Amino acid sequence: MKLKKLLSIIFISLLVISCSSAPISGRKQLLLVDEAPLIQQSYTQYRQVLNQSVVLNNNDAKTVKKVGNNIAKAVERYFQLHPEERRSNIKYAWEFNLLKDKTPNAWCMPGGKVAVYTGILPYTQNEQGLAVVMSHEIAHAIAQHSREQQSQSMIQNGVGALLGVAFGVPQELYGSASNLIMLNYSRTQETEADELGLIFMKIAGYNPNYALTFWQRMAKASGGNQSPEFLSTHPNDQTRINNIKRFLQSEKFKNISK
Ligand SMILES: [Zn+2]
Repeated sequence: MKLKKLLSIIFISLLVISCSSAPISGRKQLLLVDEAPLIQQSYTQYRQVLNQSVVLNNNDAKTVKKVGNNIAKAVERYFQLHPEERRSNIKYAWEFNLLKDKTPNAWCMPGGKVAVYTGILPYTQNEQGLAVVMSHEIAHAIAQHSREQQSQSMIQNGVGALLGVAFGVPQELYGSASNLIMLNYSRTQETEADELGLIFMKIAGYNPNYALTFWQRMAKASGGNQSPEFLSTHPNDQTRINNIKRFLQSEKFKNISK
């Protein structure tokens, strides 16, 4: 079939042109979307979020900034030690803010714009807990997970457009990921962010074992009627906890120097 053949040729050429590998894990990623415009877009969105939110400047907010800066330094240190794994030449304009919002959540946009909601503080409880959540979210950005998701949705849209032309299928059926906040990352991306986050915690001088304490606490909280929203995008079952345990004991993790 002609169209099918055309689509596979386009798809394969895109893969050949744009395959890169994720830092640390080395997993192959499809990155079609340019990084610079995505970062610009996230800076604009971050400003909008801050303008529409209550940005706190209390002691908790200071801890958020402190942890964020420590993790950002750890990221830089990691790439100094492993320059071959650096995938991006763009310098992140890091920013860490605590927003007054009951939703238990936190995120990091491409380019290093981080938000922590007050709703997650009862779960993080202390600086170590914050380090678990923030290093995990920062790891999503460092591994370019939203860029990867946008690239995948671009392919879907591209295929959608071609199908639209060929068969009259409306393009709206193929979603796009224009919102850079609260993405539903894939399970693979989640595991990668867990592992990368643990590495950044270790380099920053935090206790990576606290990740187990945090996720077990979240697992307990999810038992009741009011499951924290953070869990809707972060499946928290025994698989996640077992993966973290296994990674903490791996040679790869033990060999990471501070
Ligand atoms: Zn995540």
